[in-house]
Amino acid sequence: MPSDVAPARDLHARLADGPVLCAEGYLFELERRGYLQAGTFVPEVVLEHPDALAQVHREFVRAGSDIIEAFTYYGNRDKLRLIGKEEQLEPLNRQALRLAHGVAAEFDDRPLVAGNLSNTNVYRPADRAAIATARAMFEEQAVWAAEEGADLIIGETFYHAGEARLALEVIAGIGLPAVITLALPARGTLLDDVSVADACAALADDGADVVGLNCFRGPATTLPPLRAILDRVDVPVAALPVPYRTTEAHPTYFDLPDARATVGAPDGQTFPLALEPQLCTRFEVAAFTRAAVELGVRYLGLCCGAAPHVIRSMAEELGRTPPASLYSPDASRLSALGTDPRLTARDG
Ligand SMILES: [Zn+2]
Repeated sequence: MPSDVAPARDLHARLADGPVLCAEGYLFELERRGYLQAGTFVPEVVLEHPDALAQVHREFVRAGSDIIEAFTYYGNRDKLRLIGKEEQLEPLNRQALRLAHGVAAEFDDRPLVAGNLSNTNVYRPADRAAIATARAMFEEQAVWAAEEGADLIIGETFYHAGEARLALEVIAGIGLPAVITLALPARGTLLDDVSVADACAALADDGADVVGLNCFRGPATTLPPLRAILDRVDVPVAALPVPYRTTEAHPTYFDLPDARATVGAPDGQTFPLALEPQLCTRFEVAAFTRAAVELGVRYLGLCCGAAPHVIRSMAEELGRTPPASLYSPDASRLSALGTDPRLTARDG
């Protein structure tokens, strides 16, 4: 971190002031922008198009995100090996943190910079060798994030309670605050047969600063399991759904039907490339924000599918006016439909 930058208010100071907002969803957003390949979903953009990534960080902060999450999701040894670029692992992780710091320094109210660990394809419950491999992958990423001045580390999208606890153990070991969020599959329990309430209680006992849910589920199907978590833990609870219209019958974004599609998605599978018709509007996202805060959620955001306009709607629902609020909608000046007396050239 540049030494001439004022220190950011830390995570706990921000949580004491009110809900903390964190925009996520970089994989989807950079895929849409043409800088990242769907399928492998490796964050090569960090090294190959750093300006494109910095712009997304900037837009999310302008929209109200209190945290810049360095883009190291799936930036782990296993994934880099998959694309034959293992030698880029450390440069990618360090560059991701440096980019995040660079954008953070552009803002007077400097956002926090978070390192990021995520679910691996390596972890297997009760498989000691697999657990050791996952731990080593977490350790190297966490150490690089700490050396590059991360304010906290977010461990996210874990669908095994055991993998989440492993990530937390690593983060706690290097002494940084930990936000740990779980991704709840459609079946309603984590893949190691632990409920998210039990998993979050264990994470809180293990010292996590914030616990909760991210990804997989949209607002409607994230709220019920959140209630169970809020009943069980005293630490701040996080909610970062995907902004898609999941339902009780289709609780995750992996199998959302699209009956009105005129051209079917490949194999009838709307995830991950044909989800646009299922997107929540900014008003639906604002309503989720209100409902979650009323339940007691203190750390909010959106995962895959997030975009600046919906992050801004969350910030504004929290009573804030982030820089992007300068351009918030003004329906009174909408041509043909508006009521502003200065409108001219109106039909009829
Ligand atoms: Zn996600």
